Parts: sequence; structure tokens; C-alpha cells
Amino acid sequence: MIADEAPLILGGGPAGSMVALKLARAGRQVTLLEKSKEAHDKVCGDFLSRESLGYLESVGLSPETLGAVPIRTVRVVTPKFQKESALPFPAWSLTRRVLDEALLTEAARQGAEVVRDAHVASLLHEDAAWIAVLRDGRRWCARNAVLATGKLDVNGWPRPEGTQPGLVAFKMYFCLSEEQQTELGDAVELAFYPGGYTGLQRVESGRANLTILVDGRHLRASGSQWTAVLQSVLDASPHLQHRLRGAVEMLPKPLTASRIPYGHVQRDGEDGLWRVGDQAAVIPSLCGDGTAIALHCGALAAACMLRGDGAPAYQRRLHRQVSTRVGLATGISRLMVGHPAASDCLRVFPGLLRTVAMLTRISDSALEETRKIAEQATKG
Ligand SMILES: Cc1cc2nc3c(=O)[nH]c(=O)nc-3n(C[C@H](O)[C@H](O)[C@H](O)COP(=O)(O)OP(=O)(O)OC[C@H]3O[C@@H](n4cnc5c(N)ncnc54)[C@H](O)[C@@H]3O)c2cc1C
Repeated sequence: MIADEAPLILGGGPAGSMVALKLARAGRQVTLLEKSKEAHDKVCGDFLSRESLGYLESVGLSPETLGAVPIRTVRVVTPKFQKESALPFPAWSLTRRVLDEALLTEAARQGAEVVRDAHVASLLHEDAAWIAVLRDGRRWCARNAVLATGKLDVNGWPRPEGTQPGLVAFKMYFCLSEEQQTELGDAVELAFYPGGYTGLQRVESGRANLTILVDGRHLRASGSQWTAVLQSVLDASPHLQHRLRGAVEMLPKPLTASRIPYGHVQRDGEDGLWRVGDQAAVIPSLCGDGTAIALHCGALAAACMLRGDGAPAYQRRLHRQVSTRVGLATGISRLMVGHPAASDCLRVFPGLLRTVAMLTRISDSALEETRKIAEQATKG
């Protein structure tokens, strides 16, 4: 099998689509393999931070036009107190069903070959070529492969377990009562309780996203069925009980994810294998910045590829750019889950929320460095 010069992207989430988009916009041929047949919901809090907005705008997409809801406030709720703070940057809330499909559609419109219903079963490395073998037996071969399968590892390429591996995620969309929708307003509400936390925010079409993160050990104690998980969260949070009174579940069943390697950042890599998004760096959901990192990785990988850099150099650069932030975010997430009383310090120093929000974003210097590489690639 002759290796194709066009890079092969495995996975069409924000990271994979961003690589495809940037390469296609630069006039390069690129093929993207995505296992889903059509738009679908994903386990995610749906929060889009400032950096996500910048990257989406750079490829001609506007969250507002896609129907996103503005988020201006973060409200922390514990059984003892409620504190809120204005977010130090503009943010939006948009379902991944809409966001991911918009990115894929735009990638195809820009000339990328987007292949749906293409489930990669394994990735082989033979004679400097990368061969993606699909479940149905089809094969693609390229000199450069982009591993963008997000939460799911491809056979033969597992990630280490990270530094906070034990959390299990549940997500459900609710239709809140009119009164509760108004009270929730433009806030993302974070509620802490022993063994986990929840995030609640409005999304488009009059619904709200409830995402629950719970330590696996607590899950075993309370039972892992959705009704038991939801009930234990409601028992621990009178505030959430109030919010969800009369609310209607909008998905036939919750979406779930486990064995998420929070805190993992890929240090180095093999020639021709570009790890992007959650395959490269997994920031805890508490910070709501995983999508931004995915878009950032995608833009950085494409810029490095276009400039002629190798995959290992890209991987080391990305590690240098994001590892401190991911480390800090993971430390905070471990503290909040392991010691819910830690949230008490927010009662005394509510400004801490803004500081934490700023410190766990992609740094301005990383964004600037990536922009310069892209500029050099275009000039070259
Ligand atoms: C509970 C939770 C809440 C979160 N909340 C937020 C939030 O509010 N804001 C935020 O910014 N981030 C949040 N994140 C993080 C964010 O969801 C991820 O960081 C982001 O989705 C990573 O993008 P990605 O493109 O790397 O992977 P994904 O979005 O997971 O996309 C991977 C794609 O690859 C496809 N795929 C997988 N395996 C294969 C295969 N074998 N063959 C072909 N295709 C394949 C999948 O179908 C998918 O489309 C949250 C994460 C979790 C777990």
C-alpha cells in the first residue's frame, strides 16, 4: 500500500476538524475519518471559553450565529453558601451536537475529504507509513496521521491514566421550568458535594445542560444507575433540588464517560504521529477549557505541519505550552473533589474564582506563538 502525502485525521471532534480546516484552507489535501454517521450529543459541559471563540472565528464560525447562549457569570453553590462572580472573559454555551457538526461541515466545505461512518479499529505503523484499519476492513495509508479520537483510545495507542483518573461523568439535558430558567440566567452554576461536583448552564433551544462528575468510589456506594446518581446529587444539593423541581429530562438516557485520564499531557511523540485534543492533553472539566485546548492543538498541529516541523517537535511545544495549566487545573480539581470543604475559601475570597478561571486558560503567549508559526507557514 503506497502512503498518501495527504495527512490522515482519525476523529472529527473539535481537534480533528480544526486540523482539517486549517490544512484545507491552506490548500492542502486532507482526509478525516469520523466514526459517527451524523450529528450527535457528547459528554461535555458545552461551555465555550474565550480561546474557543477566537479559534472558531478564525475559521469563519460564530457561536452566536449557531444559536449559542451567552454565559457571563460563574455561581458556586454549596450546602452552606452561594457566591457568584462575573467571568473575566466572554463565554458561550453551545451543544456539541451543533458545534462539532458545524466544524465538520465547514471542513468539508473548505475541501477536506470527510468520511463518515468510518470507525478506525486500529492504527498500524509500517515502513514510515501510518495505516488506519477500519472496522469494516477499509484501509487508509498516509505518511502523517493525526490522532484525534478524543475520549476514546485507538487500539494499540492507549494513553497513560493521568493524575486524576477516577471520575465518572454523566450528562443530561433538562427543560427547566420558566421560573428556574430565569433564575439560572446567564450563569454557569457549579455545585460541590462530597465526592464530586455538577455544572448546570442553559444551552440553545431552551434547555439546560446538567453535567455530573463523581468519584468512582462514591458511585459504587450510591449505585451507578442514573436515577440513583441523580438522587444522590439532589440529596447533597438542596439548591439543585430547587432548580430541577418540575424539570423534564430531554435525552432518552444520560450520556456517560469513565476512565478519563485527567491531567495527562503527551510529552513527546513518534515521527508522523500528531496527537491532538484529548489525545494530547486532558484538562479537568471543572475548568471548562478542553474544547479550547482541542481547537488550539488542531491549529498548532496544522501550523507546524505547514511549516515543515516534525510531529515530535510539535508535541514537545504543545507540552511546554499547556502542561503547567493542565497541572494546575488538575490540582484544583483534585482538591475540590477530595476536600469539598475547600470550596469554603470561595466564601471568604470570591475573587479567587476569577483568578482560577484566568490561570487555567491557554496563555496569551501560547496563542501568540501559535499565531506566529501559522504566519511563518503561510509566508514560507
Ligand atoms: C464531563 C465532561 C465535561 C466537559 N465539559 C467541558 C466544557 O464545558 N467545556 C469545554 O471546553 N470542554 C469540556 N470538556 C472537555 C471536552 O469535551 C474535550 O476536551 C473535547 O471534546 C476534546 O475534543 P477532541 O476533538 O479531542 O475529542 P472529542 O470531542 O471526543 O472528539 C473525538 C471524535 O473522534 C471520533 N472517534 C472516536 N474514536 C474513533 C475511531 N476509533 N474512529 C473514528 N472516529 C473516532 C468521535 O466520534 C468524536 O467525534 C468536558 C469533558 C468531560 C468529560
